Amino acid sequence: MPDLSPRLDELARAGLARRRRTVEGAEGAHVIVDARRYLAFCSNDYLDLARHPALVEAARRGAERYGIGAGASALISGHTRAHEELELALARFVRMPRALHFAAGYMANLGILAALAGRGDTVFSDQLNHACLVDGARLSRAEVRVYPHLDLGALERMLADCASPGKLVASDAVFSMDGDIAPLPELLALCERHDAWLVVDDAHGFGVLGEGGRGTLAHFGIASPRIVYMGTLGKAAGVHGAFVAGDDALIEWLVQRARTYVFTTATPPLLAVALVKSLELIEAEEHRRQRLRTLIERVRESFSGLPWELKASKTPIQPLVVGDNRAALELAEGLRERGLWVPAIRPPTVPAGSARLRIALSAAHNVEHVDELAAALRELSRTR
Ligand SMILES: *Cc1c(COP(=O)(O)O)cnc(C)c1O
Repeated sequence: MPDLSPRLDELARAGLARRRRTVEGAEGAHVIVDARRYLAFCSNDYLDLARHPALVEAARRGAERYGIGAGASALISGHTRAHEELELALARFVRMPRALHFAAGYMANLGILAALAGRGDTVFSDQLNHACLVDGARLSRAEVRVYPHLDLGALERMLADCASPGKLVASDAVFSMDGDIAPLPELLALCERHDAWLVVDDAHGFGVLGEGGRGTLAHFGIASPRIVYMGTLGKAAGVHGAFVAGDDALIEWLVQRARTYVFTTATPPLLAVALVKSLELIEAEEHRRQRLRTLIERVRESFSGLPWELKASKTPIQPLVVGDNRAALELAEGLRERGLWVPAIRPPTVPAGSARLRIALSAAHNVEHVDELAAALRELSRTR
């Protein structure tokens, strides 16, 4: 048996060891950890729906009707009325022909890429894509070509160069550690010109961007049968899981062939019941997105003059790039001492030399919370 401790020590020496903190409870924008209350900027629960009483009540109703576990995979007997209604509601919500519910975004991306690309095909992937698009591309056995972040010229040359029968371009819509938005209309035009699928991972845009929170496709006003739209339901939607939306034939193919759909137990039906409620709130409660826009503006104003680079971002993901792993950890630690919890993100989640604080805003925050964070950062910048 190989000894893993030298490898663990190596991680620790490089400042790359990660540690989980056990959260005892949460209340608004605050969480309780180690018997202390922190103002947290960690969560992807952008709309502050994860603890919404209407969702808790919907889950309770779901549990009463269906129990807890689905008991089988969807293709055997795990696809309940609740799942069916959720898929219809999701398709209606994103205004696409059909939707398929997955247990997680990670599973959805693995399933999509391996079902749509295979040996001899080529997957084109943005350099900063989320790990599960990277893993899905590997799993597909297609050739993988990584293009520099948002470099459409490089992507176009790669596409023009490619003789594969099947081509697939995969991109985060909102990049998870940078908060920038992919130019989806231009990506779609390239895919049309080169007859490629466009897989859009909207984990961070769904619920947040576009009219009614319909996501990044709605933000740009684009639609196409070659778009494979993946949204996650554990972030802005506040619950768990993910979905893929697209053309009828595409979704039917995924039902038949996406192995991460076929060979796994269906999600607890009570989550589907909660998600239908969540979609209603996402659409109806524009004030949550308005709050986010106010907070984003406040961050952009109040962080000016800090010695770290606040990356250009119009989304609730506001990255403050520190560079060095240890320096990023120390800054996060300094904030923690002041009762603020902001995660330091290090390689391999981000490229080497670009360790950062990933400030995630949510509708649970108010401008005073942002001001408190800005003041603490200012103080820490002086003691560097
Ligand atoms: C979080 C995330 C996922 C994974 O979704 P889960 O439902 O958490 O598995 C996929 N893609 C991106 C860009 C993400 O940020």
